[in-house]
Amino acid sequence: PTLTSEDVLHKAREYNVKFIRLQFTDIFGVLKNIAITVEELPRALEGRVMFDSSVIEGFVQNRESDIYLLPDPATFVIFPWRPREGAVARLICDVLTPQGEPYGACSRAALKRVLARAKEMDLEFRVGAQIEFFLFHTDAQGKPTVITHDRAGYCDLTPVDLGENARRDMVLTLQEMGLDVSSSHHEIAPGQHEIFLKEDDALTVADSIATFKFVVRTIAQRHGLHASFMPRPLARYNGSGMHLHQFLWRDGENAFYDPAGEHQLSELAYRYIAGLITHAGALTAITNPLVNSYKRLIPTDLAPVLAAWSEENRSTMIRVPAQRQEGTRIVLRSPDPTANPYLALAASLAAGLDGIEHGLVPGAPLSENHAPVRELIRRIGLPRHLADALRALAGDAVIQNALGREITARFLEAKEDEWERYQAEVHQWELDEYLTNF
Ligand code: GLN
Ligand code: MG
Ligand code: MG
Repeated sequence: PTLTSEDVLHKAREYNVKFIRLQFTDIFGVLKNIAITVEELPRALEGRVMFDSSVIEGFVQNRESDIYLLPDPATFVIFPWRPREGAVARLICDVLTPQGEPYGACSRAALKRVLARAKEMDLEFRVGAQIEFFLFHTDAQGKPTVITHDRAGYCDLTPVDLGENARRDMVLTLQEMGLDVSSSHHEIAPGQHEIFLKEDDALTVADSIATFKFVVRTIAQRHGLHASFMPRPLARYNGSGMHLHQFLWRDGENAFYDPAGEHQLSELAYRYIAGLITHAGALTAITNPLVNSYKRLIPTDLAPVLAAWSEENRSTMIRVPAQRQEGTRIVLRSPDPTANPYLALAASLAAGLDGIEHGLVPGAPLSENHAPVRELIRRIGLPRHLADALRALAGDAVIQNALGREITARFLEAKEDEWERYQAEVHQWELDEYLTNF
């Protein structure tokens, strides 16, 4: 049942809430907070809380420095780890201009715009997310290290695993906050974990992913650990992905399923897949936004490197798992958890809708006896580094349109700068490899 503003005011009183954090996500996927007291709540719910955009990275603009936060009452949650007395709650907000228009740099608004387009086509976008992360020890100063808390591997169940307790606590807390967790397990690398958020409507899931990262970090801290979503923190082990399970529903039915179709997939499913593949380059800039993201997308790991699809092969960006009927889905395996969830979902839906609108047709699924991966990378490889992806984004009107003008411009500018700063460094690997020999 969706909460109204009235319900929020009631609940705040009933649970003796003292502070409310108004939350929103900046362009770069960082969750921002503005804390207000409960006395301000009625004003806040009317969208009358103003703040100065220039204090927030990713919102820095020229003239419109006043922006307003409009809370979505459905997102009201009381933080379970805070004391009962003087409780703290949060509301996720849309960012508005002083004229009450969606603010150009509001990524939640960007997702809503693409969702509205899908709705015009009678399509409902539903998403599940498998989110991987590492748990590391902190040093005496409380700074994160890259020392893991365990030596366990995939799905291990060992008493040495300190992280198991932390993860159990994370899942319980997420559930208390209303997130639907379908499973969780130890991942392949030491200290690596995965939590699976069950499918729901895309906006809810984007909000949940934003909440997820912040809750996981908070709970890790309470266990003396640091949770990192960095795509590839350890050179010797595979990185952390955020696989996005995508479903389209129409008239109460799974629109990707067709018992008469090839592989029991509908024509719509094929077009959607083709759209994602067509826009793979620009999409990757959004789903893999860091220099480090591309150290996960390498051929020797379980992460994808090819703009293609398959049923079993893990080197393609899209996998279609065996589930059919209402479980029919495509899994976008390329995203990592540093992606802004609103933008990642807006961009992938826009790519898929483009495929549907233009009747795009994907190639055959990559089979097990395919050409050598290196050869395929040359032909149909995903971007190999951030600059590659940014170039694709700069040339893709469909993805740019999904993000909107302000987000596109600001994103490209900041990320090009990040790439140039990285390029200007000389790394230890280069010294080891070249200093003596040349
Ligand atoms: N860690 C892999 C990735 O980066 C996924 C591995 C898995 O889920 N089995 O996508
Ligand atoms: Mg998994
Ligand atoms: Mg996994």
